[in-house]
Amino acid sequence: MFPSKALILGLGKSGQSAAQLLCRKGVEVLAVDENPTLQAEGLLALGAKLHLGPMSPALWEGVEVAILSPGWSPHSPACQEALQRGIALWGEIELAFRCLPEGAGPLLGITGTNGKSTTTALLGHLLSPTRAPVFVGGNLGRPLTEACAQAFAVHAVELSSYQLESLHKACFLGACWLNLTEDHLARYGTMEAYEAAKLHIFERPPPGAYAVLNADEARLWKHAVPLREQGRGLWGFSLEKDRPEGVEGWAKGGEGGIELYTPQGAHFLPLANRSLRGRHNLSNAMAALCMAHAHGIPVSALARGLGSFEGLAHRLEFVRELDGVEWINDSKATNVDATLVALEAMTSPVWLIAGGRGKGASYQPLINASRKKVLGVLTVGEDAVLLAQAFAGETEVLDCGNVKEAVLKARQLAKPGEVVLLSPACASQDQFANFEERGNLFRRWVEAL
Ligand code: ADP
Repeated sequence: MFPSKALILGLGKSGQSAAQLLCRKGVEVLAVDENPTLQAEGLLALGAKLHLGPMSPALWEGVEVAILSPGWSPHSPACQEALQRGIALWGEIELAFRCLPEGAGPLLGITGTNGKSTTTALLGHLLSPTRAPVFVGGNLGRPLTEACAQAFAVHAVELSSYQLESLHKACFLGACWLNLTEDHLARYGTMEAYEAAKLHIFERPPPGAYAVLNADEARLWKHAVPLREQGRGLWGFSLEKDRPEGVEGWAKGGEGGIELYTPQGAHFLPLANRSLRGRHNLSNAMAALCMAHAHGIPVSALARGLGSFEGLAHRLEFVRELDGVEWINDSKATNVDATLVALEAMTSPVWLIAGGRGKGASYQPLINASRKKVLGVLTVGEDAVLLAQAFAGETEVLDCGNVKEAVLKARQLAKPGEVVLLSPACASQDQFANFEERGNLFRRWVEAL
C-alpha cells in the first residue's frame, strides 16, 4: 500500500523531486529543511506543506514514510525517532523504484568513491544505440524520481553510499563497484562501515543480475566469489591482471585500449578519446564497457561509443587548442588526490593553475607527480602561499591572484606542444560559488583569448 502522508527530510534537488512526485500521486506531503531561507514556491503550489527550521517531534504526527535526502544520516536523532515510531525511512532512489511506471526497464547502478559520474555518463552513452529511451541520472544530474514520468527502457544510475543506505526493495540488474578509498569517514567511522554501505548495491539481485567489480582493489575483489555464488554473472576489470577462471566477462586495460573478453570471445577496443585520458579513465571505461556489454550492447557499438563520448564538464575537459597549446578544465579537482590523478594523465609538459580554498591536506604529494612534467605553477586564491612554499625550489611559481589573471599569464608562457591545466587541488568558494562556476568562467576566459 502506498503511504497517505510522507515527510520529506531535506529539500535538495532529490528531496524536491521526491516531494513533487508524491504530491502528484495525491500523497499528503510535509517537506522539512533546516535552511530558513529556502525557496520552494513550486512545492507549495503543488499542495505540499513546508517547515523550514529544526526538526521537532510534532512533525511526525500521522506520517507513514519519511524520504531521506542523502545528507541525512539514517543514524541521526530525527531518523532514530522515526524508526521508534514505526515510520519507514526511504531514500529517493527507493521511492523512485516503487513509482517507476509499467513497462519501465531495469536499473543499472554504479557506485564507488571516485569515477561514478564519468562511468555513469559513459554507460548512458554506450546504451543509447538501442534507440530506446535511456535514463541517465541518480546522484548525477537528474534525480531518479524524474524517471517516473515516462517508461525508460533502461536506467544508468549513479549511486552514492548515502543513497545506498536507504534501500528496501530497490534492486539493480547490473551493479558496478568502481573503487573504495578513504572518504566520508566522518559519517561512517570506519572503512568497514563505508564498505558495508557500498555493498547494498548488490542486495536483492533480480533474475539475470550481474556484478562488475574492480579486480585491482583487494577490498572489492574479495566479494567476487560470494557474489558469483549467489548466482549472478560476474564481470571484472583490471589494469594489471589477466582474466581469471570463473568470470563471465573481463576487461583488461593497457597501452592504447582495452581487451574485452566476453562469453563469445576476445575483442580489442582502441581508446584514443581525449575525454577519457589517464589510467583512472581507463578503469572507468572498462567498467562501463562491461556493464553495457552485459546488458547486450554489441562490441561494434561499444567501440563507436567509446570514440564518440564527449566526457563530462570540469573533469579533464578539453576546452580548446590555441597556437598549438592545449587548454584543459579540471575544476572538479577540489582536493590534492584529484590533481594527482590529473597530472598522472598528462603526457605533455604542463603549466598548472592551482589554488583556491585548501582543505588542509599537504601539497607535498604534488611535487613528485610534477617532476619532469610541470613547467610552472600559476597560483590563485587563498592557498597560493602554501602552494608556493610546497613548490619552492622545485619549479617556477607565479602568484596570479585569481584564475582570470592566471589564464592571461599562461597565454604568454605556454609554447606549442604544451598544456595549460586548471586543476586547483582546492575548493573554489574563496572566489567562486562552486567548482562549476570556476570551470565555466575558466572556459569562457580561455575561449576569449
Ligand atoms: P564522482 O562522481 O565519483 O565524484 P567523477 O567521475 O565526477 O567521480 O570524477 C571526479 C574526479 O575523481 C575526477 O576528476 C578524477 O580526479 C577522479 N577520478 C575519476 N575516476 C577515478 C578513478 N577511477 N579512480 C580514481 N580517481 C578517479
